[in-house]
Amino acid sequence: MDVLSVASEVFPLIKTGGLADVVGALPAALKAEGITVRTLVPGYPAVMAALGEVRAHRALPPVLGHTLQVIEAESHGLDLLVLDCPALYDRPGGPYLDASGQDWPDNATRFAVLSRVAADIGKGGLAGWRPDIVHAHDWQAGLAAAYLHYDGGPRPGTVITVHNLAFPGKFAPELASALGLPPESLSPDGVEFYGSLSMLKAGLRFADRVTTVSPGYAAEILAPEAGMGFDGLLRARGGAVRGILNGIDTEEWNPSTDLHLETPFTLGGWAARARNKAALQAAQGLDVDPNALLFGVVSRLSWQKGLDLLLSAVPDLLDEGAQLALLGAGDPDLEQGFRDAAAAHPGRIGCVIGYNETMAHQMQAASDALLVPSRFEPCGLTQLYALRYGAIPVVARVGGLGDTIIDANPMALHAGVATGVQFAAPTLPLLRAAISRTATLYRDRPAWRRMQLNAMETDTSWRGPARAYAALYRELLA
Ligand code: ADP
Repeated sequence: MDVLSVASEVFPLIKTGGLADVVGALPAALKAEGITVRTLVPGYPAVMAALGEVRAHRALPPVLGHTLQVIEAESHGLDLLVLDCPALYDRPGGPYLDASGQDWPDNATRFAVLSRVAADIGKGGLAGWRPDIVHAHDWQAGLAAAYLHYDGGPRPGTVITVHNLAFPGKFAPELASALGLPPESLSPDGVEFYGSLSMLKAGLRFADRVTTVSPGYAAEILAPEAGMGFDGLLRARGGAVRGILNGIDTEEWNPSTDLHLETPFTLGGWAARARNKAALQAAQGLDVDPNALLFGVVSRLSWQKGLDLLLSAVPDLLDEGAQLALLGAGDPDLEQGFRDAAAAHPGRIGCVIGYNETMAHQMQAASDALLVPSRFEPCGLTQLYALRYGAIPVVARVGGLGDTIIDANPMALHAGVATGVQFAAPTLPLLRAAISRTATLYRDRPAWRRMQLNAMETDTSWRGPARAYAALYRELLA
């Protein structure tokens, strides 16, 4: 079976969040299921610079007035179809934002072209290869399913995976015709979304199957609280909506071989792990104290992640004698808030503002506990990395966070199966209580070590999820 995966990010070439990790790791896992995946991504400068062996340049007919070619290349084990269109993708800045943090003004065209090319390849537009399935990721690829629907005629099966419903890909409805959508698409039964054109809605409405990245989030988004306006449509899609948990790349994230670490370590290698803690404490300007409970955070700084609550809980964390190390970037107010907290509590609160892949690995290897107080979380990857690296996840019980951590409640502790700490809802009182409960658990070293072992032995691999995606694809072919 052949699958065309379409996405705006793919690790390790271009990444702003978990989407890239998933798009980068799933193809190798699906290979074990007998499925061949080719990944279509825009030719941003970072992608063009990372191309390995280039097999072919294929000219395509112009799309929405843009001259294009697809470069077939290998990179980091991925079979890539890179959409080369310098006018749309060859520019400095990020995949979605310019250097000043503003959306690129032509994002509608940039991602409509990506989706249109995906639809065309889906129908055999790349001579010699016709995928059985077009698998779109997030709003940037959402129009692919709509184009295939409105084109009519024979088409591959279509899947959209929603990594975060909070990004609807909304644009002015007047753009529809310029993007090659028919007039009838601008209705509630098409791509219209409360007066806008939503590229995510296009995918949710027209893909044969809609998946999201955990069973918990798949259930939550059917209700208005987490449905972000899409819950009615999702309920109407019924059994077409599924939750398939993300895995992690267990080679990239392997504490025993991780070249980013001060000292790699294996299960039970607590002395080696402690050296990572000391190194990180030094790097984050914290007191190098092996006994201080070190909380870590690796996160985008946004309202979703609940880190404003953590700023308010800093006094509680300090009262417990704990330390905090944060690695993150995003909302300027949060960045400043953590900088101020670090300045006010030298040696106890550290923060590194920015994106740093190496330090993200070091944080997992060094932290005693990894805090994820998200208000909502489709899956969450950092708590999965934490499990594998023996950092105890302390998470809000939402979405995938609830699905992946076994709370250290009395029953789980008695049964010896706990892997972390959950708190019922991301509110300040419950976060405070969770910090205090974590500190109590940390003082009981044998119980803590037991949890670390459980965490590190948790299967966070792509094996199970890949089987679930393979079954979904087969369902569409049947
Ligand atoms: P989201 O996709 O909502 O940002 P996830 O937990 O699914 O959240 O994925 C976040 C990914 O981004 C993880 O791989 C995490 O390690 C990484 N990450 C987040 N912030 C940073 C940062 N400042 N530096 C390096 N990696 C980061």
